[in-house]
Amino acid sequence: MKTDKLHNALSAFPLTAVEPKGWLLRQLEIQMKGLTGILHEAWDSVGSYSGWLGGTGENWERCPYYLDGLLPLSYYLDDGKHRELCDRFIAWALKSQDKEGNFGPAASKDDYWSRFVMLKVLIQYAEITGDPQVNVLCKGYFKYAAKSLDQRPLAQWGKARAGDLLYCIKWLYEQEPDAALIDLAQKVSSQALDWGGLYTNFPFTRATSFYYNWDKVKANNTWSQFDVAMAFHATHIVNVAMGLKFPAMQYCFDHNKDHYAALKAGLEALAKYHGTAAGIFNGDEHLSGNSPSQGAELCSVVELMFSLQCMLESFGDPAWGDLLERIAYNSLPATISEDFMSHQYLQQANQVLATVAKRNWFNNDDTSNTFGLEPNFGCCTANMHQGWPKFLKSLWFREGEDTLVSMVFAPSAVKLVFEGCPYKLELGTSYPFRDILNYKVVEGRGKEFTLKIRHPQWASNFDVRINGKPEAVTSVDNFLVIKRIWDCGDILNCHFAMPIAKSRWFNNSLAVERGPLVFGLDIAEKWTAFRETGGIKDYEIRPESEWNYALDEGGTIEAKEKEIADLPFSKKSPPVILEAPARKLPSWGLENNSAAPPPLSPVQTAEPVEIIRLIPYGCAKLRISQFPYYSEASLK
Ligand SMILES: [Zn+2]
Repeated sequence: MKTDKLHNALSAFPLTAVEPKGWLLRQLEIQMKGLTGILHEAWDSVGSYSGWLGGTGENWERCPYYLDGLLPLSYYLDDGKHRELCDRFIAWALKSQDKEGNFGPAASKDDYWSRFVMLKVLIQYAEITGDPQVNVLCKGYFKYAAKSLDQRPLAQWGKARAGDLLYCIKWLYEQEPDAALIDLAQKVSSQALDWGGLYTNFPFTRATSFYYNWDKVKANNTWSQFDVAMAFHATHIVNVAMGLKFPAMQYCFDHNKDHYAALKAGLEALAKYHGTAAGIFNGDEHLSGNSPSQGAELCSVVELMFSLQCMLESFGDPAWGDLLERIAYNSLPATISEDFMSHQYLQQANQVLATVAKRNWFNNDDTSNTFGLEPNFGCCTANMHQGWPKFLKSLWFREGEDTLVSMVFAPSAVKLVFEGCPYKLELGTSYPFRDILNYKVVEGRGKEFTLKIRHPQWASNFDVRINGKPEAVTSVDNFLVIKRIWDCGDILNCHFAMPIAKSRWFNNSLAVERGPLVFGLDIAEKWTAFRETGGIKDYEIRPESEWNYALDEGGTIEAKEKEIADLPFSKKSPPVILEAPARKLPSWGLENNSAAPPPLSPVQTAEPVEIIRLIPYGCAKLRISQFPYYSEASLK
């Protein structure tokens, strides 16, 4: 086959083109001061005995997962100590390549999946350093894979997560087009789990427990038989989140528009049957329906963020920018402690008790919603680090030669070149807590180009000023499009009014939103350490205030903006709060150690009206985010 240009609606910037600023930079610093900065010393799975340093320790996905976040984080923070740590692992990986082209720890030589993750790390390393050894390793590994896949086709995790391999093949192809890579991409596609087919006619419209009994599957089968006994990989929540990348990557190679339709249908089905207000899909750890008391795994949060980045690059659909913000600004901060020292395996949209107890999970353990080093299983301990650092690559894209796209909003700067002239633009903002975006050209002069700003679906009103003067801008296909000659010092202020909105979820439950933020009831939390490993504590959280409220459906909700503290997602000083009229609902209580699913609304209650305080979902480790509601007019 001849070599062609790949098909992307947008081009991603190399990670070095974007800089974090403002609260996002602080968030990265908090992360490095927390678990990300100490994990190599604190947790043996990624420690000095790692198989990825030639040792006898863990030799599968955990080190590559960790580096996938640690490497870009160290780069953005210019942190020499952690860069050196990454370099040790990377140097070992580069040296480990054998004559056939395979690489990595000998003990896991036959595993494809863990190599996909390390390739993603090496790609980031190449973007940072330009080290040509990465291209050499990729070429060798892809040659090896092309042969090896004929004898030993993709299976299990490799088959479910083949989109990540396509991502890596695409990266090399963009630098060194080679028809053999197109053939390899076709081979990989033909062996992979058919995510496009699954999303187009999504078969799992109920919780996985409706179709399969986990206890029976586990009792009657060995691990390698799970996939025969049930649709194990197709219902696995992390796979489902990662699988969204697969049609997006296929599209780059085959330009078949059906992939876009499949993704649209898939996202719609996932939201309808397994969705929560905070954006993430329930899976504990298989798809678990849309009750706000089911759980969503942290790995699926960060993987869905990365899949959306890839989908945005392939198709440029601004609706997916909305979804990415919903997840990054709600689901992600909610499931990691403010100091980044502990995390949950599973988060609940309605989470009123995070304790060691049996809950209605499909197959996760009793520690899954506690905050700790390694609740339930260590995948999230290794994988959570990619969330914030890789998010930076989703903020800005380039479209063709003369358009810069501001897709997802966070304080940042981007460097690029227009017709030979270097430009740098800064986005100064306290978004998502505030509604103003201030774009400033800080370098560059005299070139005409287009700035496209995503027009979020929740924003019906907006206005734009350039250098202080109102500018008539229309929204075209959900982008504000501004074409002009840009000079250093130019300032564009864009204001998207953030109305308070109410959205409907499971059993008619009601969520309150303001712009990209979802809000949760501010429940007094009591944190108690119940275990300590190498100085890192695991916590249970119990409520010290009531949580069983129903909202007034038509009640007026008021927003109050507060100071944005050093911790952007802070429970103590949330950057914005809402006050809403509500009444207690005494009949709504606990069920199997979680808030019972909210009763079908509208509900009846004779309790008096109270004004309750709602804070951003990401600030509330205990919360109700999907409320039952009543209507004042129909109360008996
Ligand atoms: Zn995980």
